[in-house]
Amino acid sequence: MEKYDVVIAGASFAGLAVASKIKNKRTLLIERDDIGSDVRSACGTLVKTMEKINCEKSIVQTFDTAAVHTKNKEIDISLPEQFCTIDYKKFCKLLFKQSNADFIKAEAKRTDGKIVYTNKGDFKGEIIVDCTGWQAALASSLKRNYVNKNMLSFGIETEIPYKDDKLRFFVNQDIIENNIAWLFPCKNTARFGVFNYKGNTNILSSLKKFVESYNLKIGKIHGGYFCYCLKEPVVKNIFVVGCAAGQTLPLTGEGIRRSVYFGLNCGEIIQRILDNKISLKQGQKEYRELALKYRKYYSYLLKAQNKLPTLPNWEFNLIAGFLSIKPVTNWAWKKYEAI
Ligand SMILES: Cc1cc2nc3c(=O)[nH]c(=O)nc-3n(C[C@H](O)[C@H](O)[C@H](O)COP(=O)(O)OP(=O)(O)OC[C@H]3O[C@@H](n4cnc5c(N)ncnc54)[C@H](O)[C@@H]3O)c2cc1C
Repeated sequence: MEKYDVVIAGASFAGLAVASKIKNKRTLLIERDDIGSDVRSACGTLVKTMEKINCEKSIVQTFDTAAVHTKNKEIDISLPEQFCTIDYKKFCKLLFKQSNADFIKAEAKRTDGKIVYTNKGDFKGEIIVDCTGWQAALASSLKRNYVNKNMLSFGIETEIPYKDDKLRFFVNQDIIENNIAWLFPCKNTARFGVFNYKGNTNILSSLKKFVESYNLKIGKIHGGYFCYCLKEPVVKNIFVVGCAAGQTLPLTGEGIRRSVYFGLNCGEIIQRILDNKISLKQGQKEYRELALKYRKYYSYLLKAQNKLPTLPNWEFNLIAGFLSIKPVTNWAWKKYEAI
């Protein structure tokens, strides 16, 4: 059986961020698809998140303005930080290059805390990290009911030819029927998407209606679930990072910035464990405290997420109008970005 210092399952935002921080150690990345081949996200994030990890070359388009569409208004909000859309495949390749990890295309089936069992053989790891997204393939093999199906949102999107210069969010329930929609431009195309907070997967007709409101037709569809409730980030002795640990934010569904943040921090902690600067126990404690520090803020956002679909149109107008006032935008952004 092959032995590694670190075995990471899942090579997307979280897994690649963890791997990028581990140097001079034997690291294995296990991913069921080719790296960067299975995009699930609209891939909208902060420019500075991409800069921090030297992945600026994956940026497709940048934005200074976001627009909120209610039933009868389009309200522009000047963004305090520049946002961007990225090319997922390019991003994954750029971040993977920064690691010295071996890669195997395989499906991680389970772990006993020391070995990761896959359909292509078994791999022993001093340290094991689960970055497999909402299904948390490894953590849920150690802890029953680790995945709470009632705490999942579901989203789908389609990328089709269309040009625009703003990130757009839609709360117009006439078109999107109890869902939230977005339009994220990517130069010559745009990602039109719809998500349902309660994890209802029956949202294709809503996406169709949304796209047709632009006199366009949907193309190829991708998407999936994401988990928005912070969960135990250390299960037995494995680290859990990203969507697997419920680190995607409720309300906004923003998960790239968070997965990268927790991934980089987890990777740094693992490096210190392997360099014998701290014990495994100390490292687990440190990561656990960091990940759960944000619990309170996730619960505020969750309350807002539960409230949002019940709001009448005039309240959407009021809130979006208030948020578009520059000092309010800056104040709200400061609070949100700190999460
Ligand atoms: C439709 C949609 C749109 C979104 N848009 C945005 C957005 O614009 N901005 C934003 O910030 N967030 C967005 N999100 C949320 C964001 O995509 C997630 O928070 C983010 O992908 C989490 O990253 P991750 O690395 O933890 O998990 P994932 O990106 O889900 O990656 C998990 C990886 O593990 C692999 N894997 C899974 N199981 C196994 C297994 N058993 N063995 C081996 N490999 C496995 C998968 O193939 C995948 O590569 C969106 C989500 C959805 C569903």
